[in-house]
Amino acid sequence: ACGGGGAGSTDTSSSADTSASSSGGSDSAGGLIGVAMPTQTSSRWIADGNAVKKGLEDLGYTVDLEYANDDIPTQQQQVDQMITKGAKALIIAAIDGTTLTGQLQTAADKGIPIISYDRLIRNSENVDFYVTFDNYKVGVQQATSLLVGLGILNKDGSKGSAKGPFNIELFAGSLDDNNAYFFFNGAMDTLKPYLDDGTLVVKSGQTDIKQVNILRWQQETAQKRMEDLLTSTYNDGSKVQGVLSPYDGLSRGIIQALMNAGYPKTISDGFPIVTGQDAEIESVKLIADDVQFSTIFKDTRLLANEAVKVAQAYLEGKTPEANDTKTYDNGKKVVPSYLLESVIIYKDNIQKELVDSGYWTADEVASGV
Ligand code: BGC
Repeated sequence: ACGGGGAGSTDTSSSADTSASSSGGSDSAGGLIGVAMPTQTSSRWIADGNAVKKGLEDLGYTVDLEYANDDIPTQQQQVDQMITKGAKALIIAAIDGTTLTGQLQTAADKGIPIISYDRLIRNSENVDFYVTFDNYKVGVQQATSLLVGLGILNKDGSKGSAKGPFNIELFAGSLDDNNAYFFFNGAMDTLKPYLDDGTLVVKSGQTDIKQVNILRWQQETAQKRMEDLLTSTYNDGSKVQGVLSPYDGLSRGIIQALMNAGYPKTISDGFPIVTGQDAEIESVKLIADDVQFSTIFKDTRLLANEAVKVAQAYLEGKTPEANDTKTYDNGKKVVPSYLLESVIIYKDNIQKELVDSGYWTADEVASGV
């Protein structure tokens, strides 16, 4: 399931066999499209890459799909090469939203449309369109699921029976990724009333994104920070009861730290409420197993489909349809955007949202791979 993506062996990019072609995709009626993805360490980007590639190939385009191992120079080189190979459009999920300016200028000079994929490319005029999810709302959903897990809210949004106070800790994503701010702001706006009235207590006192961000969304860094928090702040017998985590990889690092520190093994037995994002299969299994509380499902198939539609529109000389023209200011311009909706996943809707929709099979959920 999930775009046919198993981890690892999915870099089926055609870089080697198209590099000789300066005419650019002359082997296909549709021409070459470059797709630059950040990393293969997270299953969501593998699913994204596969789905975009397949969508474009189904329309007759040739695709150069590249992953950059979260390394900025590698991504710069990959985009340079896509342009050299004659790409007619670029679809880019940037590692650092500000480091592709030179490449984008070259592309724009050649009239190549540039589509920012999931993450906003910043500080460049040369971004034609942005396809993504409603990222602020993703943050609201993450915080909402934390409140539900603690019993402060019910799933229908009504007030729950729990009064607190609850000890929580906060994590944010990578500050070179514009999305990290949107997730954190959406979450903090949602948690604020409960922090203000003392229902929630960030016992470490670390509530600023500058204190709680995790560079490049690294699982190990999140685990280390959680370990440090447990040692520095919870060495007096107190317990952390909830953790706002903006991405499943971070959640798994946080969960590992909590497990190592001897917290109960399941939520029913008192394991802290940990949120997430991306419905990565390893985390979906943890949710099914009553360890991770929630994740946010952003259907990469829909995002890929949107990117394909936008690329096709440009290549046919049309203007793609935006549904948001005010939110995403990249520092140089407000980029016309298409925002998709995300869904909170709890243990009880894994079947409906993820299995019935074909995103993951029941076997994958059971095995976690
Ligand atoms: C994406 C998230 C993802 C994160 C880490 C963000 O830009 O929007 O879906 O969890 O990057 O890969």
